[in-house]
Amino acid sequence: MACEVKTTCPYCGVGCGVIARVGDDGAVSVKGDPEHPANFGRLCSKGSALAETLDLDGRLLHPEIGGRRAGWDEALELVAERFSQAIAEHGPDSVAFYVSGQLLTEDYYLANKLMKGFIGSANIDTNSRLCMSSSVAGHRRAFGSDTVPGTYEDLELADLVILTGSNLAWCHPVLYQRLAAAKASRPEMKVVVIDPRRTMTADIADMHLAIAPDGDVALFNGLLAHLASSGAVDQDYVSANTNGFTEAVQAAAALDLPSLSDVTGLTQKQLRDFFRLFETTEKVVTCYSQGVNQSSAGTDKVNAILNCHLATGRIGRPGMGPFSLTGQPNAMGGREVGGLANMLAAHLDIEKEIDRDLVRRFWGATAVASKPGLKAVDMFRAVADGRIKALWIMATNPVVSMPDADAVEAAIKACPFVVVSDMQRHTDTARHAHVALPSLGWGEKDGTVTNSERRISRQRAFLPAPGEARADWWQLAEVARRMGFDEAFSHASQSAIFAEHAALSGFENDGRRDFDIGAHAAIEPAAYNDLAPFQWPQPKGTAPQGTRFFAKGEFYHADGRARFIAVQAPQARRANEAFPYTLNTGRVRDHWHTMTRTGKSARLSSHLAEPFVEIHPRDAQNIGVSDADLVVIESPHGSAVVRALVTDRQAEGNLFVPMHWNDQFASKARIDALVAPLTDPFSGQPASKNVAVRAKRFSAK
Ligand code: SF4
Repeated sequence: MACEVKTTCPYCGVGCGVIARVGDDGAVSVKGDPEHPANFGRLCSKGSALAETLDLDGRLLHPEIGGRRAGWDEALELVAERFSQAIAEHGPDSVAFYVSGQLLTEDYYLANKLMKGFIGSANIDTNSRLCMSSSVAGHRRAFGSDTVPGTYEDLELADLVILTGSNLAWCHPVLYQRLAAAKASRPEMKVVVIDPRRTMTADIADMHLAIAPDGDVALFNGLLAHLASSGAVDQDYVSANTNGFTEAVQAAAALDLPSLSDVTGLTQKQLRDFFRLFETTEKVVTCYSQGVNQSSAGTDKVNAILNCHLATGRIGRPGMGPFSLTGQPNAMGGREVGGLANMLAAHLDIEKEIDRDLVRRFWGATAVASKPGLKAVDMFRAVADGRIKALWIMATNPVVSMPDADAVEAAIKACPFVVVSDMQRHTDTARHAHVALPSLGWGEKDGTVTNSERRISRQRAFLPAPGEARADWWQLAEVARRMGFDEAFSHASQSAIFAEHAALSGFENDGRRDFDIGAHAAIEPAAYNDLAPFQWPQPKGTAPQGTRFFAKGEFYHADGRARFIAVQAPQARRANEAFPYTLNTGRVRDHWHTMTRTGKSARLSSHLAEPFVEIHPRDAQNIGVSDADLVVIESPHGSAVVRALVTDRQAEGNLFVPMHWNDQFASKARIDALVAPLTDPFSGQPASKNVAVRAKRFSAK
């Protein structure tokens, strides 16, 4: 019988509501949910094509051991046995989970609980490390918590929206649509786009600043120094709510205007105009995404931005604030449950005994990890050098997406025991699995996700599980039980896990933690099924509030005050004589990550059909290529062959290559094979931008 189900898009961090309709004949169609507060009925190209990606071609439908079909019991026993054996022989830090912002919160919660509460290691990290961990680190330094203060509505209420390191039009398309509509209705609104490329987002910009590689700290330091010298600082707010202003301004003032111009690649006039616009506009929102986060100075960039909002008190009020946009559908949910190796569940701190003790008592945990675990790049280094004996990868494809991807592939191949839980049978990673476990996909699985504005929404199943595919949380619970942790992993359903997650967030939470959804601690399955989208926090006994954080200060450092962080502009340019071009990686409009789903839609693939490099006409001329020629791009770590797209939207000296294509879709196109495993010292996030490469015309000889 035909039915309609309200669910949430599984792609980007905007988290749009979707209504999926299953017809009498089983055909699925989708439309935007007009009542969902993220999108109010809109969908982008990817969301609109969801129904075209649901076929079972290429699906992993049964557990496999060494490539042969196996039963669930046999596969789960083997996973539990090999993990237990590694732990017994080499200690808890000899095993690791590498998980994903594609997981639902309930899956994520159990994975974290098993590793950090019962195995006794914190070796669980996530592909969100590659996405927004610099924002997490920046928030924690400034606010004392990983809090995103704003809401999508702030973009519509602002008089100035700054988009830095964010191609919003392609990477968060529905949020871009909301911004473009607001700008069209309020001509006084200004938009500034800071990006080395003149992206589609820049088409609505009043000012496009084609910044030099990693010039962001210098730019926002210059802005802070300008605000201080022009009398634009909100002294009352700074005195009442912050520490460290003087030191931050001293560091920010290190470069004069000509030096700033050199470092940022912007003219002095552009700098003056930008500074003046920020100074004279009260309602400012600064959105930032991977162009800021994916840097060896990503955390400092984030804090340079936060410093400017703290200095002007433009935070936590309607139409004002810094706004980190998450890439993945549940990057934020992963942060809530401690999916990063350096965090505990419920925004608790793994480095504080009081917090470890809290989760120990709440979980009845037998072995709470006592120190941070390995972050993604270090985790795969530990796999490579043999420290990790058993690795479980869930819902992600690190052989394509990790920096130095060839080395990551070699490490996975050499690892004594690799488990991959995935929908697809032959991803570049899954083909190296000793045990492959079939997971549910979108439309089949059921749980919650949290979007960039802290809004928790339900993903609901409307299709039957194909073959023997099972939920990721079920797989984790079954392995945990077989490892001897029966009682703590006896959840009957995803709603029971969500209730436990909510209860932990409110457990002994006297307001010192930002994440609190204790109001849902006793949620029953029927109410969970009907759960409407809501924003956190929602402590016990309260209704959904739609809160903006920090309007009155009340930060999460012990003294309640925010911290300015004194940051120095890094030595930015890595390009050199041997590798003279700066490569930036990123997304295209119609594909998602490694294309295991969007690659199924002919319509989506027709937008940009093959991997390409955007190159400035003069650079193209210098290496002797014309539009559509094949180009070889090389770094000290690897090489790729892609099609030339000659365009002056690209800054001279810079190349842009999308990160989606892989060996499944085009040979020699794994662009992350070129990216050095260079990371930010605070967040551990890899620098997928500002990679030194060389380029030449492809020759078949
Ligand atoms: Fe899905 Fe993001 Fe598009 Fe919304 S904007 S439909 S969440 S991909």
